[in-house]
Amino acid sequence: MTEPYIAHASTSGTGFAGSIQHGAADYPGLDAWRELPISQQPTWQDAGAHRAAVKELSSLPPLVFAGEVDVLRERLAAAAEGRAFLLQGGDCAETFDGATADKISARVRTILQMAVVLTYGASLPVIKMGRMAGQFAKPRSSNDETRNGVTLPAYRGDMVNGYDFTPESRAHDASRLVRAYHTSASTLNLIRAFTQGGFADLRLVHMWNKGFTENPAHARYESLAREIDRAIKFMDACGSDFEALKRVEFFASHEALLLDYERALTRIDSRTGLPYDTSAHFLWIGERTRDLDGAHVDYLSRVRNPIGVKLGPTTTGDDALRLIEKLDPNREPGRLTFITRMGAGNIREKLPALVEKVTESGARVLWVTDPMHGNTVTSPNGYKTRNFDDVMDEVRGFFEVHHALGTVPGGMHVEMTGDDVAECLGGADPIDQDAFLTGYESVCDPRLNHMQSLEMAFLVAGALSKR
Ligand code: PEP
Ligand code: MN
Repeated sequence: MTEPYIAHASTSGTGFAGSIQHGAADYPGLDAWRELPISQQPTWQDAGAHRAAVKELSSLPPLVFAGEVDVLRERLAAAAEGRAFLLQGGDCAETFDGATADKISARVRTILQMAVVLTYGASLPVIKMGRMAGQFAKPRSSNDETRNGVTLPAYRGDMVNGYDFTPESRAHDASRLVRAYHTSASTLNLIRAFTQGGFADLRLVHMWNKGFTENPAHARYESLAREIDRAIKFMDACGSDFEALKRVEFFASHEALLLDYERALTRIDSRTGLPYDTSAHFLWIGERTRDLDGAHVDYLSRVRNPIGVKLGPTTTGDDALRLIEKLDPNREPGRLTFITRMGAGNIREKLPALVEKVTESGARVLWVTDPMHGNTVTSPNGYKTRNFDDVMDEVRGFFEVHHALGTVPGGMHVEMTGDDVAECLGGADPIDQDAFLTGYESVCDPRLNHMQSLEMAFLVAGALSKR
């Protein structure tokens, strides 16, 4: 084993910077982050393996295309003005083993179902985006984890190490960067097949419910699907052309945490001559890495993708303004999304000042609620969980604040799955903590299950129709 290796300023010049082959090697500023403070990066075991992985990544094809990224920016600009709504959802942490056809399909179908509920309820186009095909790296509050007196490195996502609690599995292994790329590619391939190949055709709206366990939200969805069916048949009889219903746009997103990975997948677009991070359409900066003078903000300021930033309850109005100045100096519509994650107990108190300050400055960002990350608690039997009622309360608070200020509540960001898991407490068919013993599958944060996801969509559709 060689010295632990961290990609920071002092080591960055030693090899791979010059080996990036697909055009982005010399683009000015793209390596400025290497000189800046950076947090939450792995301590790779083997410097040679790390260099080889980054080199390989930089020669692999892009996962998304610049033209798609530009389309998304336009869609997000519409959401910021209240002409669309963003639905962003998926696992807290995707896993390599979890990238199966069944699980990916269930998640995509659940997002499509939620989007239909929102679109129909609110008469508003919904932008569908997965926390999918790249959400493999996690920031952690502690570097280590101790179980029964044994301390090992914390799990940092499948892109860095394994979840199994053994020294081998928890070692930071750079070959996982390449595996994350390939798993993202196969996930995206399936998503593209589902959403472009006819399965997402709105005339199959009933089919998306098939295979899910019967539940109260499922039944409510069925009756909405019947209404949509009737409306489609009516339009069909009127001679409408349904070509447009066959395909849906579906975008991929993840937290841009491991900057070596993001840098290696950044390419210069031949049309515009500008850098795009082709690992996903949309990238966000997490609550723990949004340091204004840090590497993450710098790097993402230099790529053309639309960018999100998570804003927790300690964010000040000045922080928000400085982030806008750095990430969206040209005030480009759709460029910047603020994803607020205040907690149900804070949102009504903390959000107004931020929104007012940003609005007064004349900047226009897309405001999105993440009602998950400010509401994490530990259940009496020791599981990391969230109360469905708290999640809903934060969503309600988000709408209330924007209604009161006359600003636009433009989207929501949720941790959810199509699987029948028991990770969040409550819901119409309530999950209690005993269900965690057999139904808790997440390797990181607790997700809404299929029923809770649909239930949330119905609630938000109600709030949106009043918008
Ligand atoms: C997450 O989205 O999983 C996450 C870690 O969020 P945050 O950065 O808001 O804590
Ligand atoms: Mn999470």
